[in-house]
Amino acid sequence: MADSKQIENSFERSVFTEFFTKIEIDNKNVRVRCKLCPPATKQTYSCALNSTANLKKHLQSVHPAAHDKLPTLKRSVTSSNGLPEAVAKKQKTLTSWTSNSVALLSQQHVNDLIMNFVIGDMQAFSVVESPEFIKLVTGLQPGKTVMTRKTLTSR
Ligand SMILES: [Zn+2]
Repeated sequence: MADSKQIENSFERSVFTEFFTKIEIDNKNVRVRCKLCPPATKQTYSCALNSTANLKKHLQSVHPAAHDKLPTLKRSVTSSNGLPEAVAKKQKTLTSWTSNSVALLSQQHVNDLIMNFVIGDMQAFSVVESPEFIKLVTGLQPGKTVMTRKTLTSR
């Protein structure tokens, strides 16, 4: 399942792999062995894949020094706004896509797109004179203009 795979990866990427060896993944839980405890203890711990609170608690009570190191090791398992990393990344991609792409089209490209829209969608040529359409184009591509109906029909 893609979902649990993603959750599994979030453990794999977490700082806790520094201190715990993964033994097995069982459904939505991960069973781990603490690397810091003497091997003789053979004690294993399980925690929910999406919540490493148990492991954190173990470090805090048994290995406070390691627990103190956690913040510096933090590889941003969750983003600052609290969203799972995957979601945050997707949002970031979307945001940067939008901001980077603004005004990247040439006037020629804009013209082509309008032409394509009018011809392909069998719009009336007068659509380029519609204030709402002009607003749409200039809103998406600041600084660009909508070609006039005359230019359009002369093509
Ligand atoms: Zn331990």
